[in-house]
Amino acid sequence: MKKKIVIIGGGVTGLSTVYFLKEKSRELGIEIDCTLIEASDRLGGKIVTDRIDDFIIEGGPDSFLSQKPWGITLCRKLGLMDQLVSTHPIHKAIYILSHGRLKQFPEGMNLMIPGRITPFLLSPIVSWQGKARMGLDLLIPKNKEAADESIASFVRRRLGSEAVTTFAEPILATIYAGDVEQLSLAATFPQFAGLEKEFGSLIWGIWMKKWDARMAQSKGPANNKSRETGQAEKLTLFVTLKNGLASLVQSLQEQLSGIDVQQGQRVKALFPHQGRYAIDLSNQRLNADAVVITTDATTAARWIGSWDGALSGHLSSIPYVSTATVSLGFRREDVAHPLTGFGFVIPRLERKHILATTWSSTKFQGRAHPADVLIRSFLGGAHQEEVVDLSDDELVSAVYNELKPVLGMSAKPTMARVFKWRKANPQYNVGHLTRVAAIEKETEKYAGLFLAGAAYKGVGIPDCIQQGWETAEKVIRFVQKGA
Ligand SMILES: Cc1cc2nc3c(=O)[nH]c(=O)nc-3n(C[C@H](O)[C@H](O)[C@H](O)COP(=O)(O)OP(=O)(O)OC[C@H]3O[C@@H](n4cnc5c(N)ncnc54)[C@H](O)[C@@H]3O)c2cc1C
Repeated sequence: MKKKIVIIGGGVTGLSTVYFLKEKSRELGIEIDCTLIEASDRLGGKIVTDRIDDFIIEGGPDSFLSQKPWGITLCRKLGLMDQLVSTHPIHKAIYILSHGRLKQFPEGMNLMIPGRITPFLLSPIVSWQGKARMGLDLLIPKNKEAADESIASFVRRRLGSEAVTTFAEPILATIYAGDVEQLSLAATFPQFAGLEKEFGSLIWGIWMKKWDARMAQSKGPANNKSRETGQAEKLTLFVTLKNGLASLVQSLQEQLSGIDVQQGQRVKALFPHQGRYAIDLSNQRLNADAVVITTDATTAARWIGSWDGALSGHLSSIPYVSTATVSLGFRREDVAHPLTGFGFVIPRLERKHILATTWSSTKFQGRAHPADVLIRSFLGGAHQEEVVDLSDDELVSAVYNELKPVLGMSAKPTMARVFKWRKANPQYNVGHLTRVAAIEKETEKYAGLFLAGAAYKGVGIPDCIQQGWETAEKVIRFVQKGA
């Protein structure tokens, strides 16, 4: 008999799980009966693209890392390679607001690690004492303790306090919307812990890695690469899709034939029942052999709380913070600043609502009519969650008032679009990897129960796709075992 599989949540994790389940079962000749349940009347979860006139507005993610292979792999499978758009080839500077003025980050920075000496030494954004303290990284012995630590503690230990406030905090606030005093190094940037372990110094480690990469490049490219591999190699670090990231959702949606998709159906309860799982929706009960939960961990904890306190406890210990994005469109002539770069970050010391602003129409071409510009600001996060309680009009005014003196606007925006993300950004705080290991161990007790998504093993789109692939593999193994 065919196994019944229910996937809860139609974000990129749930959609990828379904996609890979279909692919795997087809390859292996296994028949599956699969239902996808999504609470809202739209698929995609945090991926949402709006079109207003010629503006292509991203409500959640605006791009994804091309270096993590799963995003590109899925685009290739979906035939989206020719839709991929790289960032601007020239205007790629990133700025920081310092005493109300924009100053450019030194070229060659690898987040907070200087990869090139001269631009770093000449940069006005770090004091001479701060630079000297960062240079001490070359001499400070490595930490032999294996315990997880916060990003702030790690950066302060290796590069000093100024590196925390100038680089780590504002940059990471935009990626995790989190508090660097809480965020786990091991769960967010294990590569930096790895540099300390391998080279004893972050700066030395980055230089050695760059050297290795240059040597590898000088040996010349292999000549038997396919056109698509070559195409992928030409992509920049961050990429998006020509018509916005919702095209990824659209393409995945087009692959759902044969799947029972229930949109606008909120799961109310989920529990083991007669050797299977019962899933209660508002008007019906589904029974399944396997359930994949891809919602936020808080929702999963609520369902599981009635039958496994320990697992539910681990899940609810993953905190979430709220954020908002405010996209404003202006006529080009109404903005004095040339916007030649990706945008800017704002350290907490500046006491602004905005955490970071992306010059979206420069970063990715085709986001606005050539006579207009699109500017997106990111707000909220661990230190200012309450901004999501402001009305849309208040948020637009707050952003406009903060941008105006910095970018020199001479007129109000011609377009404004606000997206609020309440308790939507999972925080990988210190000990996150231990929490996830405990969740995995507890979940193993329940045959056919799987958890995946941004709460666990990476918040980025490629991480979520990878989790979808891994979960599909596990589900297929479960189905094969019971066959
Ligand atoms: C503002 C913002 C900017 C971001 N920027 C980037 C970026 O630039 N690059 C990047 O790679 N990542 C970025 N991210 C992170 C990335 O977008 C997310 O981590 C990823 O999209 C999460 O996908 P998911 O499927 O795990 O979860 P979600 O997209 O949250 O999907 C979960 C789904 O479960 C559904 N659900 C919840 N409860 C129920 C229920 N009871 N019954 C049925 N369904 C339910 C929800 O409606 C939702 O559709 C950003 C996130 C935010 C919020």
